[in-house]
Amino acid sequence: MLSVVVTDQASLLRARGIQVTAQRLAVLRAVGGEPHITADRVADVVRAGIGAISLQSVYDALNVLVTEGLIRRIQPAGSPARFEDRVGDNHHHLICRICGRVVDVDCAVGDAPCLAASDDKGYQIDEAEIAYWGRCPACQSQPPASPRPTPPQTRRRGKRP
Ligand SMILES: [Zn+2]
Ligand SMILES: [Zn+2]
Repeated sequence: MLSVVVTDQASLLRARGIQVTAQRLAVLRAVGGEPHITADRVADVVRAGIGAISLQSVYDALNVLVTEGLIRRIQPAGSPARFEDRVGDNHHHLICRICGRVVDVDCAVGDAPCLAASDDKGYQIDEAEIAYWGRCPACQSQPPASPRPTPPQTRRRGKRP
């Protein structure tokens, strides 16, 4: 019954010593299918795929996957946490102030150089989070509105009992 993709994700989990469960697979698949997805949205996608799952179970699965390095969590100011499965390259993000759209952007000068701080003050740095804020192309064509730092989030709750 398992598709090839699911099998790959299962072996990905096993390789990290993570217990393979239908919920974790579904969460991993949801994040892979929709970069920068929110936990609420993951819950919607998983429910559509495998049926009922509590938001807490979604958070638990996301936390395990983040801790094991299979997915990355970003938390733009004024936005709920977002998750993506593009990990390990320390890429950056462009974030629209108006609609909240998030897109990936590679490091400005090559290979994750931003991990080398000009002065690390003795810290062992393992991640640098860089967000470029502005207005996305779609929002630039709209009449200028006062930029809102906390754009309304699309809520798709209540679709299912
Ligand atoms: Zn926008
Ligand atoms: Zn990203």
